[in-house]
Formats: sequence, structure tokens, C-alpha cells
Amino acid sequence: MLAELGVQLPAPRPAAAEPAPGIDPPPAAARPPARPPAAPALRPRSDAAPTDAAPAQAQAPAPAPAGGTAVAGLRPAGPGALPAGPVAGMDWPTLATAVSGCQACGLCAQRRQAVLDAGPRDADWMVVGEAPGEQEDREGLPFVGKSGQLLDRMLAAIGVSRAGRGRGGAPAAAPQHEGAYIANTLKCRPPGNRNPSAEELAACAPFLQRQLDLVQPRVMLLMGRYAVQSLLGSDAPLGRLRGQVHQVLGRPAIVSYHPSYLLRSPMEKAKAWDDLCLARATLDRLRAADRG
Ligand code: SF4
Repeated sequence: MLAELGVQLPAPRPAAAEPAPGIDPPPAAARPPARPPAAPALRPRSDAAPTDAAPAQAQAPAPAPAGGTAVAGLRPAGPGALPAGPVAGMDWPTLATAVSGCQACGLCAQRRQAVLDAGPRDADWMVVGEAPGEQEDREGLPFVGKSGQLLDRMLAAIGVSRAGRGRGGAPAAAPQHEGAYIANTLKCRPPGNRNPSAEELAACAPFLQRQLDLVQPRVMLLMGRYAVQSLLGSDAPLGRLRGQVHQVLGRPAIVSYHPSYLLRSPMEKAKAWDDLCLARATLDRLRAADRG
């Protein structure tokens, strides 16, 4: 895995990690001493069922954002943005329809299609990226192309895959892996891959919030600056937020670099590996706590 990522000074693989096909761990002698991950502030898992209340149209939202759970640090929606209320009551089909037809911000004008998600919708893992790029806009899936391939290799090295199995036990294309639900902060491609504006992030936030509510992940990976801004409400550099377990609605969230950044800055891949190990260890601790 680390050789595949081009990491020079890798951190140790967690005990529970499975090797990804074609990805070899570094020799033991090359590894630094084991560094225990920071102890996360564990909370018991919420058993609250997702709400599947009557849907509302994204283009004609009800005025009062009464429902739904506010994401910690989530920025307030700007003018013309979707209020959280109706989105908070959407089930999966309604959410998908609302996203595909959404005109709540100007990014709808140039998209080929909105990109909602990939992976099992009952996964314990949730990966949140930034925004669709050109290839995602064309294919309608998050994390495709080289950055998607890198993400897939990274996840596979800890036994996780977007093709893996969810909690429901439905057939999976990669049943040897745990499933990862993958979404972006923004559902539509910013033209020219420019940075999204605060207004665009705020307009799209209710969709991400609803995805989180429906999936009920046990651990989250926030990859890149805009995922962090939307879900942690922090503008701090990623380097300062890494290496600790944050909380988003009581769910542990690990900050890491976006794979597209890692492709440009390969020396940071060792840190990304540390982040994956921390996420893996965090979920393992939660499960151990479940078993008592
Ligand atoms: S980016 Fe989000 S809020 Fe903006 S049009 Fe697309 S789905 Fe709607």
C-alpha cells in the first residue's frame, strides 16, 4: 500500500487492516516504531432510524427549517439556498431526485449532472470529498479518475471499499471489504474546477447533512478543505486538524488530505496513511466497546 502510494517513511499498518490486491506493505524493518492512534472520544452509536417522511421539492422548499439535525459548525444557508427543513425529511429516492434537479445555486447552470454518491448507503464508513471534477460530472460518480483510484487503493489497504458490504448484508461486489459510502460536499461541478464559494457550500449543505443522517456512519473521513469547512466549520489548515478525532453529530470524524492533493504532493502520503490508521483504529475501538 505504502509503496503504491510512494510513501518513504510509512507508519505501521493496523492489525485489522487487510492488504489490498497488488499493494504490498513495507518490510517490518522499514517501519517506524508503532505509534498508537489518539484515543477518540467515543460515544455510543445512535440507533435512531432515519426519517423517511414525505418529501418536498428542492426548487420549492417550505420556509421553515424546523426539522433535521444541525451539523456542528455548518454555515448558515445563503440567499436562495435550500432550507434544511424539507431536505431533512427526504428519503433516498426523493433526495436523489431533488439533487439531480436542484437549482439552489448557480452551479446548476453548467453541470452535466449532479453527483450524489457511491457505495453502500448503510456503510459504517463515510468519506466526504469536495466537489465533482470534470470526469465526475461526466460519469455521475464521486472520486473517479486518478484521485478516485488513489482513494480506492488507500481504502482497500484498511479493508474498505466503495464496492464493499454495508451493515444490511446486501450482496457486494467486493464482499471481502467493508463498504464505504462516498459523497462530496458539493454535488455540482464548479466551472473550471474553481474553488467553491461560501454561498455554494451553504446552499448544498442540507443535502450532505441528509446523507449523513440517512447513512448513520460510524466513522467519517473528511478529505480536503471544503469537507472540513462544511462539516467542522473550521478554516484552520488541514495540517492542524489532522491527527485527532473530531465529532460531527456525535460521530468520529478524521481529517485528511484530498487524494488529488496527494497526487500533487506525494510527500504527504505518509500523513494520509496515518489518518487512515487513525480512522481504522477509531472504528475498531467503537466496535470493541460495543462488544463490552
Ligand atoms: S451544488 Fe448543490 S445547491 Fe448548488 S445546484 Fe448543485 S445540488 Fe444544488
